[in-house]
Amino acid sequence: MARILVVEDESAIAELVAINLRHAGHEVTVAVDAVQAQFEVDSVLPDLVVLDWMLPGQSGLALARQWRGAARTRAMPIIMLTARAEEADKIIGLDAGADDYLAKPFSTQELMARIRAVLRRKAPESLDAAVELADLRLDPATRRVTRRAGEAVQEVRLGPTEFKLLHFLMTHPERVHSRSQLLDRVWGDHVFIEERTVDVHVKRLRDALSAVQCAHLVETVRGAGYRISEQAHAASA
Ligand code: CA
Repeated sequence: MARILVVEDESAIAELVAINLRHAGHEVTVAVDAVQAQFEVDSVLPDLVVLDWMLPGQSGLALARQWRGAARTRAMPIIMLTARAEEADKIIGLDAGADDYLAKPFSTQELMARIRAVLRRKAPESLDAAVELADLRLDPATRRVTRRAGEAVQEVRLGPTEFKLLHFLMTHPERVHSRSQLLDRVWGDHVFIEERTVDVHVKRLRDALSAVQCAHLVETVRGAGYRISEQAHAASA
């Protein structure tokens, strides 16, 4: 389930979208203008933004451009809503960095389908599909992590934060993630948690994985952060 920010000044539309998203199990925040939207994004980086083009003050289009230009929000998925249905407007919206574009009036079913599609493309860890790496298998539906050792299957016991951390790492393997990126993607809050917290949970994750001889999969990259790597496994196997 994803954290979704809805930026829309028309309260009837904002409410309708929020109700449908909450019904689908998402966590929803609503902002009525660019200032409030920026405030929300600064405190918690959402998994996706539904952004109305026409807002009082700064437009949604300008806001999308601003987010695309900032390192922290560059990859944040945006679906733009607009009363305009011209092809040229659609191109401008997509050029500004929107991942998708929906003209009003839209059906909530269609918006939900677009949101699912963008989340699937951008954040595989928000889905319930099981992921595998080396001998490890993580199943979000059952919240189980197991290690296959020959015919045997060993269970890995993890706390909720270590589970989320491992889920994120396994769905983004081989890449190095800084502590700040991990705070954004795993904790979702950049502001109130110290980066040291990441180290504490990585250590707990390694301790749990070491019980099934998999601690080496989680690597520390000096001065950069952490990554999970199948290469490490191959090298030590
Ligand atoms: Ca509007």
